[in-house]
Parts: sequence; C-alpha cells; structure tokens
Amino acid sequence: MPRRPPIFKGLKASTRTRCMHHPLHALRSALAHELALYGPFVPLGDSETPAEAHQTPAADSRTTPLNAQTAAVEPVPTQSDDPAPRKRGFRAVGEERRGVPAEAPAAAPAEPTPAQPTPVAPAPAAPPPFDVQWTPPVTGATTPSASPQASLDAMANLDLFGQELDPSADPSRPFWERIHALVPKDSPLFAMQSLDEIKAYVDNTVLVPIDEARQHAVLGVGDPDADLVIIGEAPGADEDRTGEPFTGRAGQLLNKILAAINLSREEVYITNILKSRPPNNRDPVPAEVAAHIPILYKQLSLIKPKIILCVGKTAGNSLLGRRSSLGALRDKFHDYYGIPMVITYHPAALLRNPQWKRPTWEDMKLLRTRYDQLVNH
Ligand code: URA
Repeated sequence: MPRRPPIFKGLKASTRTRCMHHPLHALRSALAHELALYGPFVPLGDSETPAEAHQTPAADSRTTPLNAQTAAVEPVPTQSDDPAPRKRGFRAVGEERRGVPAEAPAAAPAEPTPAQPTPVAPAPAAPPPFDVQWTPPVTGATTPSASPQASLDAMANLDLFGQELDPSADPSRPFWERIHALVPKDSPLFAMQSLDEIKAYVDNTVLVPIDEARQHAVLGVGDPDADLVIIGEAPGADEDRTGEPFTGRAGQLLNKILAAINLSREEVYITNILKSRPPNNRDPVPAEVAAHIPILYKQLSLIKPKIILCVGKTAGNSLLGRRSSLGALRDKFHDYYGIPMVITYHPAALLRNPQWKRPTWEDMKLLRTRYDQLVNH
C-alpha cells in the first residue's frame, strides 16, 4: 500500500482512491476540502501565498489590513486609504503591490502619540482601474528611475512608429536646435562652437567656384549675441574688397534704416546668404545657395537671435524655400523655425526705386514693435 500523501488527509476512502489514479482529481478534491474549511476565496490585500493566508495578521506586516498600514507609512492619499471594506475576490493584476510601502526604506511612520488616535484620512478618490499597475513611490536612492522629463527627452526623437523624427521639424525643440539640425552632420561646421571657428573655416575653404574667385570671404559683422540678425543676398565689390558685409552704398542706406528704428550696426549682426561675391553681382545660383546656406544655419544656431530681418527676396526665398515676389513676402511675420522673420526691400533696390521707401518703413516699424516685445521680456 503506497504511503498516503498528506494532501489526502480527511478525504473519504473512495475519493482517495480516485485521487491516487488521477492527479487532477487530487487537486480538485484538495481545493474543495480547503473551501469547505476556510471559505471560498483569499481576501484581497492579504498575504501573497496561500500559506501566508493562514497566518494571523500580526504575523507578517504584509498581512496587516490596508487601513492599518496606511496609518504607519507616508500617506499616499488616493492609493493607501481604503475605507470601503474590501470584497473577497480575485486580485487584480498588480494589486498585491498596493499597501506594501512598508518595504520602502523612506516610508518611515509618522509617529502618532499613543493617546491620540491616528487621524483618519479624507475619503479617497476612486481607486485606479484594475488593469493599472501601480508602483509605490520610489523614496530610496537605490532604485534607478527615469524622470518624466527624461522619458520625454528619450521619446522626442521618435514618431509613433519608432522612426526618427526630423529634429528641424520638431516644434518642441528650441529653434537653435532645429536650425542646427539643418547643418549636414558630415560638414566640419557641425561641431563648431564659435563664429571665429566658422570664419577660419570659411576663409580657407572652397565649396563652389566663386569661393576661388573672391578677394575676401565675407562672413558677417556685429554682435555675436545680437537679438536681431539682418540677412542680405551676397557681397558686392566693396564687401569683397573689405571682407565686411554692407559697406558700399547699399550698406550706408541700411545704416540709415537701422538708425530710423534706433538701432546701430554694432547692436545687430549682419550677414548674407552667400559668403563670396558672385561675378558681376549676378544673382546667386541654386548650387551656390545650397553650398553656403549651412554656414548661415550654423551662424544662426550660435547667435540665437530673437528676430530676423531679410533684405530682398533672394534672402527671404532662400530661407523659406520659396520663389515668391517681394510683395508677397513683405508686410508680415514669417515663422522661421520658431523665430519671427520680417522680409522687406533690399537697400540696393531702394536706391533704384525710392517709392519703396514708404513700405520699407512700414516693415521696419513692424519689426521694431516685435523686437521690443521680445527683447524686453
Ligand atoms: N548686398 C548684399 O546683399 N549684401 C552685401 O553685403 C552688400 C550688398
């Protein structure tokens, strides 16, 4: 006769025989026996193993009723107070974790004096849905946990399908990061940290044929921390000779326009789309713009201006990727990766067409009003 396993203790002889031959019968019968003795289900929030379920509450802190536990730990209002008597039933996913903060190191009891009853916390909000996996607040330094901002930062580069986003198209990024993302990663410009570094690179690099033909590269002039950056088209003969933008007749008119809105050359930063003079002052060709415009992106990402003024449609269209007339571009703000941008007539065009001075003045007032709002706040 095989030795009778303890699980069969208390079962009828006929049942025992059936169980000896089929383990499932054994399990079912044992469960039925337990149910008859202890009731149908394990109470929620109680111990984690069936063995512990039979201990008295005092035997293990985890078996302490939830209400009693929350009096002894850091109050976590919506999670720990549980005034409604807990119904018997199956635990929801993760629910056994509730009421366990006794294991958390910093959940030291707020010691109530013996004479004072433990204050009863206000009625709690409804508990979270059962499929919510609640984890107790991390109070010790031992558990690594990413902050919500760190998680957002980690997600920032990915779209809903996990594909990398174009950072220049991500409006949650600062504009200088968005503009910097336009600089090709394989360009030496990408890692540069100062306008001086950029100048040395531009002075010594031939990107397109006009760079070989020039007398001087013309990077820019003015305050490297300017709030306003002014962008023209390309150096002319005077600028090619001096290495400084807007020094000829058009430049002198630009100085007057700036003075009319109480700004000086020294307070702003002045540059061009192209850093080399096209022969005979012809219009820039697309290959020249494509080769030089990353230099401007890099400049903008370092200067971080609050507002941009483009003079002439070549500058405006090159930055916006448009082919519009000046009439369509002026008299409004454009959003350039988050920076307000005004486009108005080129001073050289004003020298030839004085009737455009009035609309230019309107554009400059628009610019100055916005500049004041941005710079004074
Ligand atoms: N015109 C421009 O667009 N830029 C200069 O620097 C000079 C004239």
